[in-house]
Amino acid sequence: MNYQDQDPEVWQAIADEQQRQEQNIELIASENIVSPAVRAAQGSVLTNKYAEGYPRKRYYGGTQFVDVVEQLAIDRAKQLFGAEYANVQPHSGSQANEAVYAAFLKPGDTILGMGLDAGGHLTHGAKVSFSGKIYNSYSYGLNPDTELLDFDMILDLAKEVKPKLIVAGASAYSRIIDWKKFRVVADEVGAYLMVDMAHVAGLVAAGLHPNPVGIADVVTTTTHKTLRGPRGGLILSQEKYAKQINSAVFPGTQGGPLEHVIAGKAIAFGEDLKPAFTEYSRQIIKNAKAMAEVFESSGTVRVISGGTDNHLMTIDVSQTGLNGKQVQELLDSIQITTNKEAIPNEKLSPFKTSGIRLGTPAITTRGFDEVDSKAVAHIILKAIQARDDEAKLAALHQEVLELSKKHPIEAYVQPVIFE
Ligand code: PLP
Repeated sequence: MNYQDQDPEVWQAIADEQQRQEQNIELIASENIVSPAVRAAQGSVLTNKYAEGYPRKRYYGGTQFVDVVEQLAIDRAKQLFGAEYANVQPHSGSQANEAVYAAFLKPGDTILGMGLDAGGHLTHGAKVSFSGKIYNSYSYGLNPDTELLDFDMILDLAKEVKPKLIVAGASAYSRIIDWKKFRVVADEVGAYLMVDMAHVAGLVAAGLHPNPVGIADVVTTTTHKTLRGPRGGLILSQEKYAKQINSAVFPGTQGGPLEHVIAGKAIAFGEDLKPAFTEYSRQIIKNAKAMAEVFESSGTVRVISGGTDNHLMTIDVSQTGLNGKQVQELLDSIQITTNKEAIPNEKLSPFKTSGIRLGTPAITTRGFDEVDSKAVAHIILKAIQARDDEAKLAALHQEVLELSKKHPIEAYVQPVIFE
């Protein structure tokens, strides 16, 4: 029996999503397109297997083959980032962060992370997240003039609130982060330093962003953003913290590991170790810079901090008369996918915001170059201008579909990853 006949409702939605991904220009900075091998691993028989514990120390029988898979993922993660220790079991980036806090802190301890409106993540201490409920959280922002991290401000705040753990890393910061400067602040106040490199992990793996491993006490990441693996999390650290982190992941915060996803992680880390991945990562940055140049010279929108050194940027759209949500919806209508994003010193609610965040990892995977990326930026600017002109929007929509057609996902994914 084919799956479509068995459950047509679900399979129709999956088919529709596949078509959406083929047609849309995907600019959500945290998304990517995995290789067919990574996808296949996640649909494999490994999904049937329980394997609580760690390789060679399991609570179930029949784990000899999942042990091979998980050990490959661990070894490749360690090789990719030069780490002494890796835990590949966190089900997501949030769960990696949850486990690290559980490993190093007690409820009520103080943490200091980047504020949401400055570009930090929910799990860095936001009050709506477990991280701001279980722990006594404070947040640092950006320098209001430069819109950059300001280590004097961070140090002053750290001296005041005396955190047990400082979180460095962001979901929407377009500049290189100097991890050593965070280390200096952490040492000054006697705090642990955790780096959440979820967004830039692929660039780190490719040697295009400084590596926090060896500088921070512990590093977390998602595996599905610039790393181009399955949805999941990863923790890297030193051997001396292995025991406490392992037990914080299992049994501390999770049950059975998702070995089918861990197989996807192992395959993705193998792909990330290949020279083609470095070339891909270089192109991600070139494409982001090309887009940022178009926005910066437009006179209608502004790139936060004036540009980008990595895979993303936040655009301040407040001069256009539209808020972030309206621009996101306008672009959705012509099949460009983005997300609204708070800007530094945000005046609007998180449901509206004054910005949108754009990233190039997914379009770069399907073969977009700088010329294509500039064309996308021009379409975005024209759409904002033509927001009430249906005919002009229809023409821009057509341009989007032509660009997507020029770079079909199925045609690019295979050669880009395996060449
Ligand atoms: N950390 C950072 C910096 C992120 O940007 C994200 C997600 O966007 C996460 C953690 C959480 O990852 P997940 O959605 O897998 O829980």
